[in-house]
Formats: sequence, C-alpha cells, structure tokens
Amino acid sequence: MEQRPAIDDQLFRKALGRFATGVSVITVAHQDHVHGMTANAFMSVSLHPPLVLISIGQKAQMYKLLALDTLYGISLLSDDQEGLSRHFGGCPLDRLDITFIKEKGVPLLKGAIAHVVARVVDVHQAGDHTLFIGEVEYLHVGHGSPLLFYAGSYGQMTNQHPAESLGWMGL
Ligand code: FAD
Repeated sequence: MEQRPAIDDQLFRKALGRFATGVSVITVAHQDHVHGMTANAFMSVSLHPPLVLISIGQKAQMYKLLALDTLYGISLLSDDQEGLSRHFGGCPLDRLDITFIKEKGVPLLKGAIAHVVARVVDVHQAGDHTLFIGEVEYLHVGHGSPLLFYAGSYGQMTNQHPAESLGWMGL
C-alpha cells in the first residue's frame, strides 16, 4: 500500500491560515439559553436550493447542540465587532455589548453585516470536525465592512468596495 506523506500540524495551520476569510458567530437557541461560537469555516454551497455549510470541531459545545433539523443562525461580523469574535471564540471579555435579535426563533447578533438562518439538512463527519449543511430560511443584509481573519490575526478591508455588489457573478 502507498504510504501517505505525514503532514505537520504547524505547517497545516500556517498554510491554511493564508486563506483570508470573514468571521461569523454561529448561534443556536437551546432550552431558554442562547449559545454562540465564533467560526470562520463557513461557506455558501448552493443557490438552488440555497445551502450553506459550517464546520464545527467535535470538542466544541456547539457540536452537541446541532443535529438534523436544528435551526442555526450565522452573523457575519463587521470590522467593529472584533471583541465579539474574541469573546465567542473562547476568550470571554467583560463590558462587551452583546445584543441578540431573533428571527424565526433563532438568535442573531445585532450589528452584523449580514444574517443567515439555516436548518440543518445534512451532516458529514470529517476527521475531528463535522460539517453541518443548512438550507437557508432567512437572510438579511446589513451595513458596514467585514471583519477579516488572516494568518491568525484580525484585519480590515482597506480598499473601497461596492456596498451593494451582487457578488462575484455580478462584478
Ligand atoms: P464555549 O467555548 O463554551 O463558548 C464560546 C464563548 O462564547 C465563551 O467565551 C462563552 O462565554 C461565550 N458565549 C456563548 N454563549 C454566550 C451567550 N449567550 N452570551 C454571552 N456569551 C456567550 N471552531 C470551529 O469549530 N470551527 C470554526 O470554523 C472556528 N473558527 C474560528 C475562527 C476564529 C476567528 C476564532 C477566534 C475561533 C474559531 N473557532 C472555530 C474556535 C471556536 O470559536 C472556539 O473553540 C470556541 O470556544 C468553541 O465554542 P464552544 O461551542 O465550545 O463554546
């Protein structure tokens, strides 16, 4: 059998960290609580039907709260919400304004540049993470510029960008 090359963990993180992303906070309503978690492993998957995907580590509390048919929220953070990203990424910060709004009974973070509510329609185990594919049931586009994450650091867009762009197909 062919031997697979060993991939160094540090190199994996370093190389994959060169992929710049936005930052989202995933939220679910659980009993009478809200649980939130920062995630940059978020992507759109399909337009017809409208599908999105999040990848959640199996050690995360969030992992236990997601299953087929669960509704989850995705708040795409603006560049003035870095504190929220750190907080929901497991470094709790005091004196942070955390305001949830609700759509379809799902909590979302106020002030995000976009909101998505999706229902889990497919679940795939993938190594130490699990992919939750969701069918979109609600969308809202807000204002502001995105918070960026690159090589383990936060950043902001420095160039002008059209606020109402249709996306890559419309450019
Ligand atoms: P916890 O660690 O228990 O909670 C997360 C944090 O949110 C805690 O500080 C908690 O106090 C706070 N919190 C939760 N609910 C509330 C509430 N209702 N009100 C106020 N505070 C609340 N992990 C992945 O699996 N996938 C990813 O794609 C991913 N991307 C990341 C991107 C970035 C930029 C960062 C910083 C982290 C990312 N992580 C990702 C790591 C993940 O965010 C952390 O491991 C996180 O701690 C896991 O959350 P948890 O569900 O285990 O809950």
